[in-house]
Amino acid sequence: MSTATHDLPMLLEEVEVRRVERLSPSFVRLELGCPAFAELGVDGPWWDQRFKLIVPHAPDAALPSFEDADASWFGTWLERPVEERGVMRTYTVREVRGSGADTRLVVDVVLHADGEVGPGAAWAARAAVGDRAVVLAPRRGQQFGGIEFTPGGAQRVLLAGDETAVPAITSILSQLPPEAHGAAFLEVPHAEDVQSVVHPEGVQVTWLPREGAELGALLHAAVLTHLGCAADPAAGDVAEDEVDPELWETPTYSSSGEEVLEPAALEAPADVRDGLYLWIAGESRVVTGLRRALVTDHGFDRRQVAFMGYWRRGVAMKS
Ligand SMILES: Cc1cc2nc3c(=O)[nH]c(=O)nc-3n(C[C@H](O)[C@H](O)[C@H](O)COP(=O)(O)OP(=O)(O)OC[C@H]3O[C@@H](n4cnc5c(N)ncnc54)[C@H](O)[C@@H]3O)c2cc1C
Repeated sequence: MSTATHDLPMLLEEVEVRRVERLSPSFVRLELGCPAFAELGVDGPWWDQRFKLIVPHAPDAALPSFEDADASWFGTWLERPVEERGVMRTYTVREVRGSGADTRLVVDVVLHADGEVGPGAAWAARAAVGDRAVVLAPRRGQQFGGIEFTPGGAQRVLLAGDETAVPAITSILSQLPPEAHGAAFLEVPHAEDVQSVVHPEGVQVTWLPREGAELGALLHAAVLTHLGCAADPAAGDVAEDEVDPELWETPTYSSSGEEVLEPAALEAPADVRDGLYLWIAGESRVVTGLRRALVTDHGFDRRQVAFMGYWRRGVAMKS
């Protein structure tokens, strides 16, 4: 196993699947480990920390080697044919277990039973102990980025997402301070996908099993009802050509080029509506519908909301 990337500020490491647990019809939990994970870490809570996973592009294809990688590794990697370089996908650090050389990164991967299966989900679905992949993740003491949950001075949080955001929401819930207040709405494909979650008493957690309902419909209605906004069914009805598959609208970043805040401004006391911070992630069309309803129709300030498209129905992620 190669661990020859010491010069990079992040970890770019070949990892081994150490444990596989089928959580439910739609989720498989993998523990990934390698000796270099002794240095896996962030400065503070993991919250919704994302990381990159590189998997072979097909079951019998090779995994790229990053031995001797330097600062130009990404461009060099992208120039290689996909058969050699594999595919890179984004996931959430659900948890970190163990310590030292036995540190494992836990990832919960959604198995797309209801849609097309991409290489990330296919790899996870067949993963067995001993399988290999490459992980790009934060190295302790170094800036990595990739945490969007920044409630600043908000007094309440609202977390909402579909199954791809369940790892992030459950991770955030488990790390919130005991005095935190708010609500979380998690839409999942089936009732069997509901997980038991550690969360502060003051945060109400609601699971929304879809059971065949239209993707995002339950989430849209639940969020608007919770906020006391009339749920206009048409607001969730977003035309295909209005959807940015890479939708990313947070207080400090805008994929559509809107004005954003300097990261430092987030630490200012919140003077925003209801002292509320909203974190919403999932399928891009569903998130676009919620954004339109909350910001355009109901006047929530974009300084208090993070809207993130985690995937787009019918569109493979770029890598
Ligand atoms: C910051 C961030 C964190 C994320 N965290 C997680 C996580 O912890 N766990 C997780 O499972 N996903 C997570 N995702 C979403 C994940 O990256 C996407 O679902 C990704 O498309 C999966 O790659 P793939 O190779 O399986 O499918 P792709 O090759 O990207 O897509 C192939 C086909 O599969 C469809 N598809 C993709 N995802 C789904 C899905 N969930 N359900 C149904 N159809 C789908 C696409 O629409 C496309 O038609 C995260 C995304 C982001 C941006």
